[in-house]
Amino acid sequence: MDSLLKHMVDMTGHRDHTMLDISVISAVQELAGAAQTRVLALTRLRGQVFVRARAVISAGGPARMEEHSDSAAPGEPLECYPALAACIAGHQASADTVCDDGRHMLWLPIWIGDKADTCLEITNPTPYSGATIQIVGGIVSVYRNFQNLLDYSERDSLTGLLNRKTFDDQLAKVLQSGGDYEAATPPGERERRQPPQTEKQWLAVVDVDHFKLVNDKFGHLYGDEVLILIANLMQSSFRAQDRIFRFGGEEFVVLLRSSTLADAHKIIDRFRINVETHDFPQVGRITVSVGFVSLNAAEAPVIILGRADQALYYAKSHGRNLACHYDELVETGQLHAVASNDTAEFF
Ligand code: GH3
Ligand code: MG
Ligand code: MG
Repeated sequence: MDSLLKHMVDMTGHRDHTMLDISVISAVQELAGAAQTRVLALTRLRGQVFVRARAVISAGGPARMEEHSDSAAPGEPLECYPALAACIAGHQASADTVCDDGRHMLWLPIWIGDKADTCLEITNPTPYSGATIQIVGGIVSVYRNFQNLLDYSERDSLTGLLNRKTFDDQLAKVLQSGGDYEAATPPGERERRQPPQTEKQWLAVVDVDHFKLVNDKFGHLYGDEVLILIANLMQSSFRAQDRIFRFGGEEFVVLLRSSTLADAHKIIDRFRINVETHDFPQVGRITVSVGFVSLNAAEAPVIILGRADQALYYAKSHGRNLACHYDELVETGQLHAVASNDTAEFF
């Protein structure tokens, strides 16, 4: 019981999803006496569900976050885990199976409403006792409630997008982990791309054009509705692996994962056109301007944001409803690079 309480105190002492994952698998591993415990992320992409390990602990070893060579890949199709696939399809609380090599596997999806984005997987050489399943079930409930609370503190209450504080944390994390990288492109695929382009991570700042007029003409409630609809258009225009934040007011930020410049431009323009062509109830047509820049781990967040902001203001002063790339504007002499010590005034 002491051990259970100790784990509960540890699990609920974190304000971060990563640390929560680490403490929950440590608790399950010890209390179930398991051979291995993993946190699996369940991601939906074009109607298909993918499974990818996020954290793992094996008997005798420390709990750690799982590292993937291709951080953009969604993982294995759910069909590779038939018992788990049936459990998810049937909205069940757990699934178990015995592997050919005699290992007993137990899966416990973390249901929030009718969606499970996370699942615990426990591997054991022997069958699970009723008492073990009961304790693990209790931990799953605490994990689910706490994940719900963390989600709530990370999101903006109007649009449901990730909030400014979460953006600060996630940008710092992306920059710490290297910012950009050469994508692990299969050789055949690489040869087809002429010339081969480097995949990078991108930051785009989005600002609604003439939003003050919407409030002035239609009132704040319609203004709020426009913001909610733009947030929805962002979620349907960007990819599952991109992160969308409400930065404040009528400004949004997107972190685009691993794209070439051409793809980043295409994805951002697709969103801009989706807004331009959307019919907003009562309000009619709305447009957005976007400034974007590639992430470079060697640079401070304030400098990266300052550059995206410069490109955004270039778009604002050149007719609006444009998506402008900072480096391109500098290379073509349309914008002058600002020295690092001048960037404190941005944002
Ligand atoms: P520009 O094209 O230059 O961006 O023009 P703009 O009118 O959008 O410029 P500005 O950024 O100055 O105006 C933003 C307005 O957004 C001002 C503020 O009243 C409004 N706003 C900020 N947050 C909210 C919100 O949560 N709801 C509503 N309805 N309006 C908001
Ligand atoms: Mg603004
Ligand atoms: Mg604006």
